[in-house]
Amino acid sequence: MSDAFVRVALDHPLPTLFDYRCAAPAPPPGTLVAVPFGKRSVVGLVVEVSAHSDVPAERVRNVESVLSGCAPLAADWLELVSFAADYYQRSLGEVALPALPQALRDPARWVRLFAVEPRFRLTSAGRSALPDALPARAAALRRLAQALVDAGPLDLSDARALHAKASATLAAWQAQGWVDTDIDADADAAAPEALDNAGQAIARPALTDEQTQAVDEIAASSGFSPFLLHGVTGSGKTEVYLRALERLFAGAPQAQALVLVPEINLTPQFEAAFRARFAMLTGSDAIVTLHSGMADGERARSWLAAHTGRARIVLGTRLAVLASLPALALIVVDEEHEPAYKQQEGLRYSARDLAIWRAKQRGIAVVLGSATPSLESWWHAEQGRYRRLSLSRRAVADAVLPSVRLIDLEEERRRGRGSVDGISGPLVAALKARLERGEQSLVFLNRRGYAPVLACDACGWLAGCPRCSAYVVLHKSEHALRCHHCGWEARVPRSCPDCGNIDIAPLGRGTQRVEETLSALVPGARVLRIDADSTRRKGSAQTLFSNVHAGEVDILVGTQMIAKGHDFQRVSLVGVLNADTALFSHDFRAGERLFAQLMQVSGRAGRAGLPGEVIVQTRYPRHALYHALGRHDYVGFATATLAERRDARLPPFVYQALLRAEGRTLEAALAFLAQAAAALADIPFAERVTVYDAVPMTIVKVANVHRAQLLVESASRASLLATLRAWQPILRSLKGVLRWSVEVDPLDI
Ligand code: ADP
Ligand code: ZN
Ligand code: ZN
Repeated sequence: MSDAFVRVALDHPLPTLFDYRCAAPAPPPGTLVAVPFGKRSVVGLVVEVSAHSDVPAERVRNVESVLSGCAPLAADWLELVSFAADYYQRSLGEVALPALPQALRDPARWVRLFAVEPRFRLTSAGRSALPDALPARAAALRRLAQALVDAGPLDLSDARALHAKASATLAAWQAQGWVDTDIDADADAAAPEALDNAGQAIARPALTDEQTQAVDEIAASSGFSPFLLHGVTGSGKTEVYLRALERLFAGAPQAQALVLVPEINLTPQFEAAFRARFAMLTGSDAIVTLHSGMADGERARSWLAAHTGRARIVLGTRLAVLASLPALALIVVDEEHEPAYKQQEGLRYSARDLAIWRAKQRGIAVVLGSATPSLESWWHAEQGRYRRLSLSRRAVADAVLPSVRLIDLEEERRRGRGSVDGISGPLVAALKARLERGEQSLVFLNRRGYAPVLACDACGWLAGCPRCSAYVVLHKSEHALRCHHCGWEARVPRSCPDCGNIDIAPLGRGTQRVEETLSALVPGARVLRIDADSTRRKGSAQTLFSNVHAGEVDILVGTQMIAKGHDFQRVSLVGVLNADTALFSHDFRAGERLFAQLMQVSGRAGRAGLPGEVIVQTRYPRHALYHALGRHDYVGFATATLAERRDARLPPFVYQALLRAEGRTLEAALAFLAQAAAALADIPFAERVTVYDAVPMTIVKVANVHRAQLLVESASRASLLATLRAWQPILRSLKGVLRWSVEVDPLDI
């Protein structure tokens, strides 16, 4: 047989495909192949198949091996990664290959991954086409086809005995839709009632009217249907997702659903709810999780379960949006406003935005849920592009939203009722009252460590990181100063390194210090701290959270880790410290983010019917944001903030992209950006794009690298993208920096 050529995407920044030679028939598009690249062997994705190559024959190398254990990635998946590559300004391979589990990108592991050999069998299309569709003289192919017709499923070694190139042939037939390897294809249809392990029907709560209406609308939708499920905290959004999935499976027993959550490690209760409700889905792979914390092998198994259609529910973090889901029929994005849906390195994609694109591609429903939708999504709903579903009340009978009390720190001070180490008298009193009643409290502070800086009173020295333009954070219990930007660490000095004064003191406070202070101020309280430091070990966050649920904690102190999602039953008080800094940030999204965080953390109070109270300590009690918080008025906040954004011509009313450069000096980074900006003048569509001056980033130096950025924006998304596309080759030709990158729709500016 003659040679064929495949054009392969590799994880490489050059926006080209790479040609390789292989035996005909070539593996179809979507197949993973191992190919030589330089001195290495790498895994690539076949994108095109061709009878010839424009590359001189002596330079075309051979495909080393073909992954034949699973079906090729489908055309709609290739379309998804192509879209993401184009939109986020990356090469196709830079999107497609990192989207795969590591184990699939290592040919040495391919064999073991499929230790259970897949068995190939004819589909009904294959049964009517084969063997007649084959050329009469292709004896080996006809033998293989006849064996499938007569003997039924074959595994690969059986097939090879009939036809030496059976693996490529079967892959091609699979792409053709003639054979499949789905062993569990005839899994039982979903029963309408969920059963627990003992076969008992699990009690499902009677839906509230608002929930019923939301579920009905989702179930009744057809074609591309984006929904914004705006439900106050505790309104039972999870129940809406569960019912929407039940209805989906009742009508389409083989359908797949993708459920995205911002951080899977923080939501075991979410996973448990899905597993309990859908225990009737047969097969151990029916519900799988996908997130970056999983072991390689486990993640590959989940991914393959999704890819083969065995997984009916895929519950995952942002990376799951790039999973291969051949029967995808419904997408849920829980807490859609969460910044965690935005990948902040490499391919800087928004999983929420890609979820919407996928839903549109497949013509299905996508449900974005939040108590505090992103202003982007809210604006879409206002415009009628998303259908709004509202849950305005808490689901549990008697549970009402907590009351919000603002403590004016200035007034406390004027009246001589100063706070003790940042905790005001009224907050201490409220904490003590909860302790006496056996209820739990939660104290929220968005800063970990003991204190954000160590200072010398005598000479004004502040402990800074030698490698970054940032202060180092005091971690008192470890006697360490630690840089939160580069990881630099040092022991706490005994005296001021500049003047020798031994009276150096922490300035400001972080969660460790608040933990210490609260233990002293509320005697007898069991105080627990949950933040990135106290949960560094895998699984430790879950243990700590279960202590809270088990009632072994009176006061929980923590960062935004404690604010999200948790359904704490006995928390009746939430204290908020030090929120003011975000009110005056240069980042135009800081207010939106703070409001969402405070609404979320407030939402932890009073969920199970205990009257809840939120106490916010502030120097600006008259600030509009706090007023909206006090009234639980998301709509008012969103309306006012959108009006401001419109006046200021900020997103969602314009589209933005950032070019970032990292250099050995700030001058080098700025010079690169200046050249890049100058080059825009030659790009035709660029007249509709505004270019701002290159500026140093807020933390200009991190780990001795100097960083600057350039903002470009346009009222037209198409003009912005066309400009970026034309800009790429120019940027690649510029020199003088260590790294540069383009980010589309940046969240942090
Ligand atoms: P949200 O995600 O909207 O903040 P949850 O989905 O966590 O809210 O639900 C809050 C609580 O309400 C949970 O304890 C849940 O079991 C309960 N719940 C949800 N729907 C109902 C209902 N229809 N009747 C009674 N309780 C419900
Ligand atoms: Zn000093
Ligand atoms: Zn540093």
